[in-house]
This record gives sequence, C-alpha cells and structure tokens, in this order.
Amino acid sequence: MSNRIETLEFQAEARQLLQLMVHSIYSDKDIFLRELISNASDALDKLRLESLVNKELQADTSDLHIDIEVDRETRTLTVRDNGVGMSRDDVVELIGTIAKSGTAEVLRKLKESKDAAASQDLIGQFGVGFYSTFMVADTVTLLTRRAGTSGGTRWESSGEGTYVIADVDDAPQGTAVTVHLKPEDTEDHLFDYTAEWKIREIVKKYSDFIAWPIRMAVERTNEAGTNDASTGEAGAATTEIQTLNSMKALWARPRDEVDQAEYHELYRHLSHDWTDPLETIHMKGEGLFEYEALLFLPSHAPLDLFAQDGRRGVQLYVKRVFIMDDCQALMPNYLRFVKGVVDAHDLSLNISREILQQDRQIQQVRRRLVKKVLSTVRQLQTDDAERYRTFWKEFGPVVKEGLLDDVDNQEAILDIVSVASTRDPEQTTTLREYVERMKDGQDDIYYMTGESRLMVEKSPHMEAFQARGYEVLILTDPVDEVWVERVAQFDGKPLRSIAKGQVDLGTADEKESAEPEREQQQKDFAELLSWLAKTLQEQVKEVRLSSRLTTSPACLVGDTYDITPTLEKMYRAMGQNVPHPKRILELNPTHPLVSGLRKAHEQQDADSDVLGETAELLYGMALLAEGGELPDPSRFTRILADRLANTL
Ligand code: ADP
Ligand code: MG
Repeated sequence: MSNRIETLEFQAEARQLLQLMVHSIYSDKDIFLRELISNASDALDKLRLESLVNKELQADTSDLHIDIEVDRETRTLTVRDNGVGMSRDDVVELIGTIAKSGTAEVLRKLKESKDAAASQDLIGQFGVGFYSTFMVADTVTLLTRRAGTSGGTRWESSGEGTYVIADVDDAPQGTAVTVHLKPEDTEDHLFDYTAEWKIREIVKKYSDFIAWPIRMAVERTNEAGTNDASTGEAGAATTEIQTLNSMKALWARPRDEVDQAEYHELYRHLSHDWTDPLETIHMKGEGLFEYEALLFLPSHAPLDLFAQDGRRGVQLYVKRVFIMDDCQALMPNYLRFVKGVVDAHDLSLNISREILQQDRQIQQVRRRLVKKVLSTVRQLQTDDAERYRTFWKEFGPVVKEGLLDDVDNQEAILDIVSVASTRDPEQTTTLREYVERMKDGQDDIYYMTGESRLMVEKSPHMEAFQARGYEVLILTDPVDEVWVERVAQFDGKPLRSIAKGQVDLGTADEKESAEPEREQQQKDFAELLSWLAKTLQEQVKEVRLSSRLTTSPACLVGDTYDITPTLEKMYRAMGQNVPHPKRILELNPTHPLVSGLRKAHEQQDADSDVLGETAELLYGMALLAEGGELPDPSRFTRILADRLANTL
C-alpha cells in the first residue's frame, strides 16, 4: 500500500470554528473529554447496529468499550474506542469539514457578538464536538480503522489551517484520539487533565449514563502495613483497570432516583446542545407493549429546525441496544424538535425504518408520546407561563404545522396555540382567552393574516373592527396562512378572516336602523359602481360599498375561499404557479374621494381621463394600503404627480 501522506486544508468554516477553539471562546474546557467520549459512544452504537444488520461484517464486537489513557510524562490523553472507525475519506469528510446546517450563520453571529456570555451561549447551542479538543491541545492525533476493513488512517493537526493525513498499515479497529495537552500554564491543578481524579470527576459528571464501559488504568497504592504478595513491599503501587461510569440507562430507572443534572447530561449527549432543556418527560408504557421513554423539550430552537437535512428527533433503543437516530415513526414532523430516547422491549433488533412506520404498536406508542408532549405544554401554560412563552416563541411556528398534519390532535394543538392580537402589542393570547373576551353578539373569532404585525394592524380592513373595539388576531407566520384555511372553528366559534367576504358588524338593532341609509347609498352609488367595475375589470372582479372602512377610501378583499395575497406570494417564491384570483374592491362611501368621484362621474363624460385615472389611483391605493405591490409603479406615480401638481 502506498503510504499517501497529504497536507490538507480545513474547510473555511471549520477553520473559523477552530480559531475560536484555539483561542478558547468557551470557558468550560472540561467538556472536550465529554465530546470525545460522546463520539466514542456513538461509534460503538454504530458498530453494534451494523454487526446486527450485516452478518458478513468482519468486526470484533466481543468487548466494545472506551479506554482512557494518560501519560503524565508526555502530557497526553487518549480516548480510544473499538467501534465503527472511519475510512480515510470519512476522516476528510467528517473531521475536515463541518456539515451542520446553519454553521455559517452561527459563525457570522459569533463574529458580530462582542459579548462573551452571548458567544458562549451561541457556541453552546451549536455544539463544537471534536474541535473542542483544541481548547486544551497543542496537537491532536487521531488513529482510526474502519471496522471490517484493513489498513488505517492517521490524522494530525495543531488546529491552525491544515491537517496531515496518512495511510497506516496497521491500526486497531475503531478510533483513538490523542490530545497533546498544552503546557500547564500555572499551578492550577484544577485543569490537569492527566490527573486521575480530574478524569473521574468529568466522566462522573458528564458521561455516567453512557451505555458502554469507560475504562481507565488506575494506580492502587496498597495501604501501609498490608503485605503485597507480588512485590513483598508495603505501600507499593499496582495498576488495575477500573470502569468509571455506572452505565445505567436513565430511562430505565425509576423517576425519583434520577436527579435533574443526570437528565440534563443525557439531554446534552443526545442533542449536542449545551443549554439545559426546558422540560423533561419521563414515561413508561406497560401492558402488551412495554417501553420506556425519556423526552426533552429544548429551551431554544436549533438552527436547522427548518432545514431539510436538520438533525432531529428521538432515538430508538430495543432493550438497551441503540437501534437508530431520528426515528420518525415515533415522532411526527411537527414535533421534530423533541429530543429523547424510546426503549421498546418487544421489537426485533434489525427492524427497518419501513417496517417501523407500519408497525401498529409503534404507531400506538407514537400516539401516546404525542399526546403526552402536547399535554405537557398545556400544563406548562397553566403552571409556568414564562416557560410556556419561551416554548411557544421557539417552537410555535413548527407546532402549528400539526394543525395541517395531525387532524386527530387538532383540538389539543389549538389549545396550546398562542397568537398576537390587537388587544395588546406586547402580549399574545390563547384562543380560549380570546373567546372569553368576545363581545356580546360576536359570533366569530376574527383574524387577519399578513407579512408583519405592522402591515396587518395598519391595514384598512381593521378600521371598522377597531372602531367597534373588536379584538382581531394577527397571524404573521407563513404557516398561519395555511392552517386557518383548515381549521373551521375553535370551541364552536368559526374562525373568520376580516379581509375576506362581507363584513356586517353590530347588533341586530343597529343593523336594522342603518338599513334605510344603506339602501339609499346603494341607489346613489349604483352607477359609479358599475362604471368602476367596467373600468377596472382587468384588476378586480367586483366593486362594492364597504362596511369595514371608516377612514380609508378603499380596500381589497377576497372571497371566502380565495387564496390570500401573502400565500400567493409564498407559493410563487417556492416556484409554484398558482392562480391569481381577482379580488373585490370595496369603497368607503363616506370618504370625500369616493363621494367626490361619484359627483364627478355624474357630471362628466365617463370616458374622461381624469375619471379613469382616479379609478386607477383608488385601486392602487387599496393595494398599497395592505402592503401589496403595484403592477406598474411608475405609471401610478406619474398619475399621482400630475394630480398633485394640478392642486398647487
Ligand atoms: P458530532 O458528534 O456532533 O457529529 P463531532 O465534531 O463530535 O460532531 O464529530 C464529527 C463526526 O466525526 C462524527 O459525526 C463522526 O461521524 C465522526 N467521528 C468523531 N469521532 C469518532 C469516533 N471516535 N469514531 C468514529 N467516528 C467519529
Ligand atoms: Mg460529537
């Protein structure tokens, strides 16, 4: 075999991240060991699974474990596993680059952030993994052999711009990472990573639950006075191999025996997120299908929440054996941020994803998990409003996807939804709270969708509702455009867009007393309306008098089942061709521009430029008022400028 030695450059983003590590942006250096153990544990999980699925694999799985070795003389620390290992290409791909979605984003934010605490927070959310070794190392060496293959790879770097990679004839199965520790700067023994007690402390604190033995050779000093047979001397040291972690699967332990810190460490291992979870859910299913589940609601959304290839979900174990990451059969897409473990007792070890999706018992477990997650959030809403708000701010837009996908739980989801409303710019409201505040005679839950709170709030459609003091829900997440079409009602109250259909506010008495005036208006404006409908026939499908405007001259509304302009824009942005439904132009008969136009229309030749241009301006203004785009802005401004010039 040719001993190919190459010096390669880290990918640009990896280089930036390494710079941050070398210059120790993160203060808790201990965690490098946790990261190495975590990777070793993953590698053992992967090998075990691969050997179960692939009987041909020539790998030794008889004693899967993790070794920690220290050498005080050379100041090195090695974490070794006999797991799946990596090929040369794997090493280049996995260690030389960062594949995580959102890396560039984090790095940009880090660069901007001058505040050290904020930076730590960011890097913590991101998780730096293997690169964290460069917080404590001058040089890191990695020796690895892919299980089932011969010939290994040696990788070395000082974390600057490049690394050296070479083939080696012989390497043990799995991976050994050797950290060449920086010189001890002070007498600060707190950071001596060659000290046995230090390693014990870190393993106990961060990695106790790891399912594989973490072993280390420790010195045993015989107590003075006892007689050691091998040396015949009192007080001599012998070494023995000890397992440092308890290996207890947390999810299998009774809830009252696990403390919060242990839960949180498992969460970190699973999620690669260094911040504590918002909520921990530990449950057990007994009866025909036994399982244990330990689920976590994170306290912030991961950067890849909306990325196609985002890291997500729940791990599946079968009787303590890791089977797969991201078990989609156990958690619907709209709860993809939930992290955790489900350990099912009665499944085959080499079950495939396809079979899982169809397994009736798995479907049942999933139903229970979903209900539990939703009820936990509901509980949070009543018990701890602050944490609920954090949850909703981070995950609300994703949870709302469930209103489309999960009809069975629609009600439970609606119960935890909270949305902005016209009542208070600072606070969101739940639908239930809205319903409790509904005015006498109000039958519908009013909402309006749009691109931003400001746009919706200032849109002319709001006017009559504001004048009458009706609260309107303001829905500005892209997903809102879609779910409001699917959800007919909440608590028996229909959901109704204020930008669609006819609006008829007020009590029955008020409506009756306004009737004569209305009829008169209809008569007075009939000719203008039909003329406008003809003049603007390319743009609108109907022109009518409005009862929703108090101060604006005009607005555009859709029919009840028409697609909204925002949704239309979203579809187009996604490259989909959607129909462009014509809308309805509504006029405010009390506005001077509208009443003036009526008079002018009565008096002038209907073909006059002035009339036609005023019609165009009216339509353009209605479009602008709701944040829409003019089809021909230069024409609009020219007409407007001419008109204004005439008034001076
Ligand atoms: P993460 O663990 O979050 O994926 P890391 O930076 O810790 O990120 O590791 C990057 C990748 O390198 C891992 O996903 C894994 O594929 C590979 N890797 C790291 N350590 C090992 C190891 N001990 N054995 C096999 N592969 C490893
Ligand atoms: Mg890792």
